Amino acid sequence: MKAAVTTGKLREIRLEDVPTPEVGPGMLLLKTAYCSVCGTDLEYLDNTLAYREGGALHAGAILGHEFCAEVVEVGDGVTDWAVGDRATTSGFRGICGECYFCRRRLFNLCLGKEHERSIYTQIPQGGYGNRSGAMAEYMVRAPHQLLKLPDHVSSTEGALVEPLSVGVGAVEAAEIRPGDTAVVIGAGKIGLGTMQVAKVAGASRVIAVDLHGEP
Ligand SMILES: [Zn+2]
Ligand SMILES: [Zn+2]
Repeated sequence: MKAAVTTGKLREIRLEDVPTPEVGPGMLLLKTAYCSVCGTDLEYLDNTLAYREGGALHAGAILGHEFCAEVVEVGDGVTDWAVGDRATTSGFRGICGECYFCRRRLFNLCLGKEHERSIYTQIPQGGYGNRSGAMAEYMVRAPHQLLKLPDHVSSTEGALVEPLSVGVGAVEAAEIRPGDTAVVIGAGKIGLGTMQVAKVAGASRVIAVDLHGEP
């Protein structure tokens, strides 16, 4: 398959032929429809994520965790997904699947060490730059790392669910109510999504603050 692969040099990725990942038991093979670029992808390529464990830039990484993809193969033991389902990322990392929180499907609170591993996969390679990002034709994911997209959500919109969820979380935490004035600090992709969510929540005035002026 074709994939955008890091070379280990700053800000450089190259289109390469790499082996298509094989789907194992309990996993799904997905064909990427769209992949959005995250700020952390750029930080990884700038090697400014190196302070994180596994965050240092190296060659052979396939980035991309904001995606819409279609299930093309279902691993043994997976019952609630079928070929043709469209998925976006849930943002969940590897999980233990057994702790108090996992059994209640609150995977983001998993007490197991697995959740500290890559946001891309359960495979314990660790780090941001492993070989299973969505900037490739195919990728393998565990079902808990995915959310099914309903028919009324387009595939391009689906690729933006993960970054938009940051705004949903922020607006919920700030308890924005109809008629409120909301201030969003930072008007990048995450900030723009947060502004839209604040409006949907009923904010009558939304003020953006950024270091850059009007475009
Ligand atoms: Zn992201
Ligand atoms: Zn757990």
